[in-house]
Amino acid sequence: MAAPEDMWQCQTVNCGYIYNPDKGDRKGGIPKGVKFEDLPDDWCCPICGGTKKCFKPLAGPTSTKADCELPTVSESGELTSAATTAKESDQQELKGMEKYVCDVCGYVYDPEVGDPDNDIAPGTKFEDIPDDWTCPICGATKDSFSPES
Ligand SMILES: [Zn+2]
Ligand SMILES: [Zn+2]
Repeated sequence: MAAPEDMWQCQTVNCGYIYNPDKGDRKGGIPKGVKFEDLPDDWCCPICGGTKKCFKPLAGPTSTKADCELPTVSESGELTSAATTAKESDQQELKGMEKYVCDVCGYVYDPEVGDPDNDIAPGTKFEDIPDDWTCPICGATKDSFSPES
């Protein structure tokens, strides 16, 4: 039975694989009885692929903070933040495309639709409609419209 000092555990998040010298690492071609210290430097965790630096012993004076090398982790983190930024700018775009309601007749101006009958192209913000534009239903001016909430 191996002593706790000889059992090394992978410190990678969601891994926790333990290298047991009594068992070796059959997948990595490590025979039984090989101490962790004697593993080749290019050996890596059979579960997550972390390097030897990801491991620390279960007990003993060398049980210090692991200096893990997993370049793939930071790459996926950058992807996530980029996706978040894109989502935020989408929401700002939508905010500018607010619907406006005629206080007189209840007609709703939808910027996505525009007002083709009065030469207002789809995608025109309410703010960008000419001031002489009037409600296609009741003829009220732009002043009679308020943002839909
Ligand atoms: Zn691992
Ligand atoms: Zn109206």
